[in-house]
Amino acid sequence: MTTDALPPIVERLLREYLAAPNWGDPWERSDAARLRALPIGRGPDSSHYLRPCGEVVIVDRDGSESTTREYRWVLAAIVWGTDRYPDLTSLIPTRPPDARDCHFCGGAGRWRGQQICPKCGGLGWETCGCPGK
Ligand SMILES: [Zn+2]
Repeated sequence: MTTDALPPIVERLLREYLAAPNWGDPWERSDAARLRALPIGRGPDSSHYLRPCGEVVIVDRDGSESTTREYRWVLAAIVWGTDRYPDLTSLIPTRPPDARDCHFCGGAGRWRGQQICPKCGGLGWETCGCPGK
């Protein structure tokens, strides 16, 4: 992941999102403005947002919020976010020659249909398992 490229891309996408007419859920727009974070998607129990600094904000259904900079969560937000924002594709790391298909999702990158694979962050492949790779 090119981390230097993340802030300007997410900042621009957030600015465009907030400036565009809102045809979606009003809560999503207000959360995005309040959190200063790009709406990525909504799962069964939580909504995920990505800040230009690379932080993921998770808003649970009960309204509680948590943040993380853990690599697999940031990566999952980027991969998931490409569904809505194709410009995020440039932030997805290139598969190294020695990578193998993810043992959990079999290389699909998705799990139980559409959910991002929790093991590979949606890449569909994994390396030696070293954190931060
Ligand atoms: Zn996987």
